[in-house]
Amino acid sequence: MALLLLLTLPLLAQDTVLQRPEVRKALDYLRAHHEDHLASQIRIAEIPAPTFHEAERARYMEKEFRRVGLKDVEIDKQGNVLGWRPGKSSKALVVAAHLDISFAPGVNTKVRKEGSRWFAPGIGDDSRGLAALLAIVEALNDAAIETGKTLLFVANVGEEGLGDLNGVRYLFGQSPHKAKLDSFISIDGTSPARIVNGGTGVKRYRVTLRGPGGHSYGNFGRPSAVHAAALIVSKLAVLPVPAKPKTTYNVGKFTGGTTINAIAEEATLEVDLRSEDPGELDKLELKFLESVRLGVAEENALRKASGVAVKEEHKLVSHRPGGQTAADNALVRAAMWASKATGHTPSLGYSSTDSNLPISLGIPAVTLGGGGRGNNAHSLDEWFEPADAFKGPQMVLLTILAYGQSRIP
Ligand SMILES: [Zn+2]
Repeated sequence: MALLLLLTLPLLAQDTVLQRPEVRKALDYLRAHHEDHLASQIRIAEIPAPTFHEAERARYMEKEFRRVGLKDVEIDKQGNVLGWRPGKSSKALVVAAHLDISFAPGVNTKVRKEGSRWFAPGIGDDSRGLAALLAIVEALNDAAIETGKTLLFVANVGEEGLGDLNGVRYLFGQSPHKAKLDSFISIDGTSPARIVNGGTGVKRYRVTLRGPGGHSYGNFGRPSAVHAAALIVSKLAVLPVPAKPKTTYNVGKFTGGTTINAIAEEATLEVDLRSEDPGELDKLELKFLESVRLGVAEENALRKASGVAVKEEHKLVSHRPGGQTAADNALVRAAMWASKATGHTPSLGYSSTDSNLPISLGIPAVTLGGGGRGNNAHSLDEWFEPADAFKGPQMVLLTILAYGQSRIP
């Protein structure tokens, strides 16, 4: 009997979250205002916000943070929009979504509807997350819920591409509020069944090779920047990497040379290295740098008689540190429970998101879906389907409330 009680107690503690009338009220609010929140998502998506050009969307979110009643709303030095909802404790759980879209300035962000789908670059990634932030604040206020932790809502810059997580990097690294921030939820992606508790580490390099150039026939024997680049790639392309922890490399861009009958003076490589395990990523990085060194040395050795050489320069252009919030961490367990409570079968996984940064600092962090269905993120064909999308903000809201409980199953 005692054992039975012990086993069921944590579950009961969670279910009492669902039984609280104010929690029911907040969940009902999200369902009832589903269409309003979709309209809000579309308004946000239509304001262009390429990485490094988020200011216009930030000003809009600043107004929206004020409209929903957040306190001390500000745009910080990095361009992140911040708004507070005080709780019983001054320790803050950050709830964030990213402002930026993975497109160049000038992209057409007009939203169009075809059948049951809404199309626009960034309609799901991460306009859905930004709309979910506002929806959650409205629901908490409507139901007059006081949370255990203070909530800091953030619409952050710099998640995509070469933004290199500079929004959350500033928030946790330099912002005057950083000492108060003890946990982090990013709303990014759509499915409330997918809980990202692992941050895939990413390092990106640009390698530039420069040589003497010359006529392809007349100066044959001189080293070529393109040949050296090819030798580097041929070494990288055969490197063995573990399948688990998943570790990958890719030469995403290879440019060089000017014309068919000239020895190439210049070549560049853009290389993306990733791993679920920070140690494996470091190992891969060393092997990659060794490939660069050996490729250049090989080309120069082949053309030694010419007395001229190719030189290389490499630069780390992006670094997203990796790591994992343990599956038994209270925040992960709260998210698992909330996903089930909203009718999903949750799974844990790895991705490269804003959560990477707090995770690398040992701060519990998860990335959760904003609801609905979507695909083709980072392409002009990105679409979003809003069926049952209210379950996204419901799931995040329940995660916040369950995380505040002393007992989580
Ligand atoms: Zn995103």
